[in-house]
Amino acid sequence: MKRIALLAGDGIGPEIMAEATKVLRALDLDLQLEEAPVGGAAYDLHGHPLPPATLALAQAADAVLFGAVGDWKYDQLERALRPEQAILGLRKHLGLFANLRPAICYEQLTAASSLKPELVAGLDILIIRELTGDIYFGQPRGRRTATDGHFPGAEEAFDTMRYSRPEIERIAHVAFTAARGRQRRVTSVDKANVLETFQLWKDVVTEVGAQYPDVTLDHMYVDNAAMQLVKEPKRFDVVVTGTMFGDILSDEASMLTGSIGMLPSASLDANNKGLYEPSHGSAPDIAGKGLANPLATILSVAMMLRHSLGMPDAAKRVEDAVQTVLAQGWRTADIALPGETAVSTSAMGDAVLAALR
Ligand code: NAD
Repeated sequence: MKRIALLAGDGIGPEIMAEATKVLRALDLDLQLEEAPVGGAAYDLHGHPLPPATLALAQAADAVLFGAVGDWKYDQLERALRPEQAILGLRKHLGLFANLRPAICYEQLTAASSLKPELVAGLDILIIRELTGDIYFGQPRGRRTATDGHFPGAEEAFDTMRYSRPEIERIAHVAFTAARGRQRRVTSVDKANVLETFQLWKDVVTEVGAQYPDVTLDHMYVDNAAMQLVKEPKRFDVVVTGTMFGDILSDEASMLTGSIGMLPSASLDANNKGLYEPSHGSAPDIAGKGLANPLATILSVAMMLRHSLGMPDAAKRVEDAVQTVLAQGWRTADIALPGETAVSTSAMGDAVLAALR
């Protein structure tokens, strides 16, 4: 039996998690589902966004299904107690270093994309973002009085960009391995023309790529990648990049598909244990109204079945069921075009259940 930690969180988190749980149960697999509070909900109950019992459950589980965290009402809290810290804590304690964000444009939703339908029809990109290095975590960082540069004596702030060879090697292996199950093309995105960190990145990815002669590797500067994503997005198969460029490019790619409400994500450790969550946040503006699209979370269940639980057939059943409901015309408000009727979060979950059966 596999153990799954269900961490619903805040805002629309509990609503979308309820639908994903319905789907998980309907699959009738040998799974033990255990719930725990996280984010603002956990702060309200226990005074911390990631209480020890929640962390212990996540560590003991084979996989974590996560809803979303955050609400404006916690903005006054000191940074360490804010809901979003729960995600950073889980990433750190679970050793999650590879963030997989597919951007798939479903045939039926091409009209919801901000790009012309012919540019996005059939789009299927996998963005793999490294999660532990780069300018988000490098030391030193801080503020001080400048002693050189253009304005000596003025206040300045600084962050440090860094990557180590083993960090780049392991994320590169994730990318090349993923590409083998797809179109066998990897685009490594860097800024090697300006940054020493990304010259090392490019060198190491090239070396690792030599171990995968069946996969084509190309390198692209991040500014060009941002442009190509809107100019000719279907040229990409697997994109691998660092924490900051991945943060930005994966949000850009998500909009090509029509709605952030459709996009799942996975964050994996070295043994394919993972945390699975929709790419969107807690959407406090629509929380409690039954407006949230649960499909990103339901598709996160499919990723969990495939990557952490070794159940690719069940994953495929879930993905096929989502395709079916879209083909049948079921739409939540975020993916409904003008004139189309939108259904509630739970009606969408029920439609997926019906399609599964
Ligand atoms: P958001 O993703 O929550 O919402 C952005 C917009 O998309 C909103 O208009 C929202 O209504 C809509 N939206 C999001 N998910 C949707 C869904 N499933 N169905 C339909 N519409 C959906 O981003 P935000 O508004 O910038 O942030 C809100 C809160 O979420 C903040 O506290 C932020 O810190 C947090 N956040 C959490 C995560 C996470 O838990 N991993 C990620 C991003 C943001």
